[in-house]
Amino acid sequence: MDKTIELGKSVFMETYAQFPIVLAGGDGRYVFDTQGKRYLDLVAGIAVNILGYGDKRLSSALHKVIDNGLLHCSNLYWNSYAVTAASRLARLSSMEKVFFCNSGTEANEGAIKLVRKYGSSLKEGRTDIITMKQSFHGRTYASMTATGQTKYQKSFYPLVPGFSYAPFNDYDALKNMVTDTTCAIFIEPVQGEGGVVPADASYLKKVRQLCDDRDILLVFDEVQCGMGRTGKPFAWQKSGVKPDVMTLAKALGGGVPIGAVVATGKAATVLQPGDHAATFGGNLLATAAADCVLEVLEDGELLEHVEKVGSYLRNSLEALKERFSQIVEVRGAGLMLGVQMSIPIRPILDMCMKEGLILANAGPEILRFVPPLTITESEIDEAITILTRVLEKILD
Ligand SMILES: *Cc1c(COP(=O)(O)O)cnc(C)c1O
Repeated sequence: MDKTIELGKSVFMETYAQFPIVLAGGDGRYVFDTQGKRYLDLVAGIAVNILGYGDKRLSSALHKVIDNGLLHCSNLYWNSYAVTAASRLARLSSMEKVFFCNSGTEANEGAIKLVRKYGSSLKEGRTDIITMKQSFHGRTYASMTATGQTKYQKSFYPLVPGFSYAPFNDYDALKNMVTDTTCAIFIEPVQGEGGVVPADASYLKKVRQLCDDRDILLVFDEVQCGMGRTGKPFAWQKSGVKPDVMTLAKALGGGVPIGAVVATGKAATVLQPGDHAATFGGNLLATAAADCVLEVLEDGELLEHVEKVGSYLRNSLEALKERFSQIVEVRGAGLMLGVQMSIPIRPILDMCMKEGLILANAGPEILRFVPPLTITESEIDEAITILTRVLEKILD
């Protein structure tokens, strides 16, 4: 066995079922392992590395911070990278206020605190939160509780009180669950871990109206589907349904850890001095990265590219569906696509990896495609060629 893997197995808690490769470098849409083997990467660190590998703009933005010597300063002081990144976020989302943290789960924790404070300010005890079945919001306690999948929760009771779960894309069921103690509804505009399932625009519109009528905050978890993945800066912009609060992480720093809570309107001023904080939140290194990624999104060219290659990938996958009866459905938006199969897909992932293609799952029977947004049509062709060969070997 590889020495690194052997040592890793002896010292890591066994929280991940890791593939037996050690990654060491990257270039464009390719990553390299320590054996020098090259892989075309359609996972991007799970929807993180949206600019691909070795992006010159991101590298030089990071070098600039590193060379100045100050990677981190406390939020007791201002730094211009965090301010610029926040103002870009506000502009791109047409929302007002930003809180920086370090991850997706942390962003959702912040959002949960925000909506509970808001609810309590309306009426004591108005703190109930409705989230969606099959949702995923993170692994820390409140975010794990918000996650509508018992497999993530069952070993860790007791959970945080005050959460309930509505079937996704079912307006009447949601409406029937709302009570006068509901303070917020959490939705992923495209569910990621739950199987790459987009919310219907008509559903989101009705939910928005319901929230307005009942003074409930609407929170969109865009940790996976945000940051250009669907061809818009944020997935909700496809439906035109704007949330009161949005959470971001994954791709926000293009590979550097950073998360954000973005709020607008009545949600914008809920959190006040002393309410919430994060030591590392908004540090120079992370916000310089976010600022660079957000500048690329503001420029717009990458978003057009996502629309174009997103439909190219989708059409290629639809063609595979014609060829293989085990493919049940192709769904998603932009470069966030899922292929629902009728069989467990782990052997497909393993064989693709041997053939030099990195793919992920989203549940045991769904192939997930969340490549760097810079992927080209010829790289998509290469991926489809490998996948076709693998499916022929396994399925025919
Ligand atoms: C990945 C993910 C999270 C959790 O993000 P972490 O950075 O792993 O904490 C939350 N919500 C969604 C929709 C995600 O995809």
